[in-house]
Amino acid sequence: MLPLRAQIYLWVSMNGDFIIPLNGLATGSHEYEWKVGKEFFESFENLEILDAELVASVVVEKSGRYLGIDCEVEGDVTVECDRCLDELQMPIDAEIRLSVKYGEEESSEEHREGEREVVFVPETDAEFDMSQIIYDYVCLALPMQRVHEDGECNPEAIRHLSAGEAAADGTEENNPFSALKDMFK
Ligand SMILES: [Zn+2]
Repeated sequence: MLPLRAQIYLWVSMNGDFIIPLNGLATGSHEYEWKVGKEFFESFENLEILDAELVASVVVEKSGRYLGIDCEVEGDVTVECDRCLDELQMPIDAEIRLSVKYGEEESSEEHREGEREVVFVPETDAEFDMSQIIYDYVCLALPMQRVHEDGECNPEAIRHLSAGEAAADGTEENNPFSALKDMFK
């Protein structure tokens, strides 16, 4: 249980460092807010995400040996539309719930605690870097199929596409049956 007047610590970093200090973290609730932009995905050499305007809001709860991290990543990312190849904005809302454990990870151990994913941090680590986890969750939140809503694709690209399909249909003239037809003339 938290003390009645739990101290709330709020850290706002608009450039995002994604670091939660573990050393000497006081009991109570700690809040962080990080901006997740285009450079973040560039640093992971991700070429699919062309732009990003996301905010990661984090609440770290410490109580005795327990350390819980709740992180919500919300905003928009820009990707390429699978159909017309124009830019496409997709909303992202990813929820990350972690339970941090100190010590070596054991393969036999359960890596979930209810709705929480368990992450293992070496006893000697002074801080916990959230960037890889945030990156993974945003990538998972992206749908496999990335296309504009009907009618919102680049009309120029669609015209080219349907012209290509019509040309492909034309080749059916050369099917074996039309050749047979000629033989029986
Ligand atoms: Zn499109």
